[in-house]
Amino acid sequence: MEDLSYIINQLGEERELYYNAIAPPIIQTSNFAFKDFASMRSTFEDEYAGDYIYTKAKNPTVDILRKKLAALQGAEDALITNSGSSAIFCSILANVKAGDHIISVRKPYSWAVNMLEVVLPKFNVTHTYVDGRDINNFITACQPNTTLIYLESPNSFSFELQDLAAVGSFAQSKGITTIIDNSYCTPLFQNPHALGIDLCLHSATKYISGHSDTVAGVITGSKARLKKIFDSELSNSGTSISPFNAWLLLRGLRTLEIRLQRISESTPRVVQFLKNHPLVEKVIFPFDKDFPQYELARQQMTGACGLFTIVLPPVSYQQIEAFALSLQNFLLAVSWGGHESLVMPKAAGIKPENYEIDNPEHRMVRLYIGLEQVEILIKDLDNALSVLQRN
Ligand SMILES: *Cc1c(COP(=O)(O)O)cnc(C)c1O
Repeated sequence: MEDLSYIINQLGEERELYYNAIAPPIIQTSNFAFKDFASMRSTFEDEYAGDYIYTKAKNPTVDILRKKLAALQGAEDALITNSGSSAIFCSILANVKAGDHIISVRKPYSWAVNMLEVVLPKFNVTHTYVDGRDINNFITACQPNTTLIYLESPNSFSFELQDLAAVGSFAQSKGITTIIDNSYCTPLFQNPHALGIDLCLHSATKYISGHSDTVAGVITGSKARLKKIFDSELSNSGTSISPFNAWLLLRGLRTLEIRLQRISESTPRVVQFLKNHPLVEKVIFPFDKDFPQYELARQQMTGACGLFTIVLPPVSYQQIEAFALSLQNFLLAVSWGGHESLVMPKAAGIKPENYEIDNPEHRMVRLYIGLEQVEILIKDLDNALSVLQRN
C-alpha cells in the first residue's frame, strides 16, 4: 500500500482546481458540457476512460474517493455504489451467464443470499454453499460450469474464515473469478487482491463511512474487470453513489485509521472481560487465541475490528431480551462500523415460540464496540449480564 497518510490526505485531491479549498467540493450536477464535438464523440466511445458526461456514471467528487479506496485496497481502480448490497448485485451479475454455477461460502451476508437464492435462479444460475474453512470443500463443489466463487472472510456474525491464498490459487488454476466481501476487515486490515482474489467489495456504510449517516458500497479490482461492471451492470442498475454521499465518505475516511486504532485497542479488552465472565458461555472473535482459526486470522489479517459475538448460557428468550434492553451504551440496532456501540441478538430474528434454549446459535448476541470509553462499556455489560442471574 502507498503511504497511508498520503492516500488519506492527498491522493486524488487537486486543490488548485477549486480555490485551494482543503475540503473538496461537492460537484452537485447531473451532467457535464463538452467544449467541442470531437471530445464528446471520443468520450461516448469509452465513458470509463473518458471525460465526465453524466453523474450516474462518473463524477469528480466520487472520483477522489475512487482513487483513495483503490489505493487503500491495493487495486487498479474502485467503483463506488449506493449500497454494499448493490456492490454485491453488480459484481456477481457481471460475472455470470445463464447455465453457470457459483460456489459460495455458507451464510454470506443476507442480500448475497437473496441474490443466490431468489434473483439468479430466474436466469438459471445455480449455486452450492460450502463450509469455507476447508479448501477441499471448494475443490469438491467445483463443477464444469463453475465460473464464480463468492467469499466473505470473516463472516460478520459467526466469523468463519477462508484461506484466501489457497482459494485464490485454486480459482486461478481453473479460470474461476473470485469475489470477496471484505467489509469486516476494511481495506486496512486485509488485502485479498495480494492473495489472488479478483474482486473485493465492501459495505462502505460500515467503517469507511464510520458515522452511521451514509449507505454506500465499493468494488475494487483490475481496470479490465471494473470497466466491465461500469459499462453494464452499474450503469444499467443506476446504483452509483450521489456526490454528496461520496463527500460524506471522504470525510469519514480521514479518520478511518484512528477509529480502527481505537477500536482495535478497546475490543480485545471487552472480549477478555467477557471470556472471563461466568455468564458468558463463549466469545467468538477472530483475534482471540481460542478462536479455532486464530492462526489463519493472524496470517491473512493485520487487524480485527470491533465486531464479535457472544453465546449466552442456556437462558430464556425473555432473559436475552432483558439483557439487550438493560444495556445503556449499546443501542439495539442492525449494522455496525459507526461511532456508537450496538447489540444485535440472534433471538430478535426468531419468534419466541420457535426459540430453542438448547441451540447455542439462538443464544448468540452480536456486539459492536464503538468509540466510547472502554471502561464504560465493560461496566455496562457487567450490569446487563447480572440481569441474567436475577430473572
Ligand atoms: C452491511 C453489510 C453489507 C451490505 O451493505 P449495505 O451498505 O447495507 O447494502 C454487506 N456485507 C456485509 C458483511 C455487511 O455487514
